[in-house]
Amino acid sequence: MSLVECPECTKEVSEKAKQCIQCGYPIEDEKGAVYYGTGLKYFNEITEFNQEKLDLAFYWWRKAAENNDYRGLVRMYWGTREFTCQFPSKTYDEHREFIDKWIKIGVDSGNHECKYLIIDTLSPENALDTLENLSKKGNKNAMGLLATGYSHGSCGITIDIKKATALHLELAEDGNPVSQLFLAESYYRGTEVIALDEKKAFYWGEKIHSNKNDTYGYCFADYQEMVNNNKDR
Ligand SMILES: [Zn+2]
Repeated sequence: MSLVECPECTKEVSEKAKQCIQCGYPIEDEKGAVYYGTGLKYFNEITEFNQEKLDLAFYWWRKAAENNDYRGLVRMYWGTREFTCQFPSKTYDEHREFIDKWIKIGVDSGNHECKYLIIDTLSPENALDTLENLSKKGNKNAMGLLATGYSHGSCGITIDIKKATALHLELAEDGNPVSQLFLAESYYRGTEVIALDEKKAFYWGEKIHSNKNDTYGYCFADYQEMVNNNKDR
């Protein structure tokens, strides 16, 4: 019998339990979260390289991923990278194939955190195909990466302002601040696709402002800088 940690009261409970005997947390119905939390317990105990605990964390996070909770694998991916920088070890390479497989499944499912990992996981040769396929399925993360690829040439994608604009228009309407910044800049300066239109530039600038938060605060800062640099225009 394996013991897992109850995410609610942190007491140890049987993996097979229907509910936590201490607090009644629905263990059986929340397997992904339970497995993720159990892996995290071992991961947080690691203060210096410890293969045994890393394996334990990975064991539970793999089970969490099988239950649609990818947070552990995302952490493991970055964690093992940090560890391999600090401690010479084969851990990352050994797990890389498996982790990559789950990251792809995570991206397919639209898992938010995975969007940062796909850049690192995909080779430039297949980034375009993968991102286009996922975009056609309506995966917003993939659309965002593809739009950035077409506008900035990231992921090894050749710059194509026409394609970038089409994607950013859709994503900006959907509330994506990065795309709203792209449109604000495009309307402010004019591009081969978008005619200069200050009114529309300010419209998207206001949208970025109303959406600003910690993660996307830089979008509004960039927008303000652009306007401030052109005050005498
Ligand atoms: Zn409990």
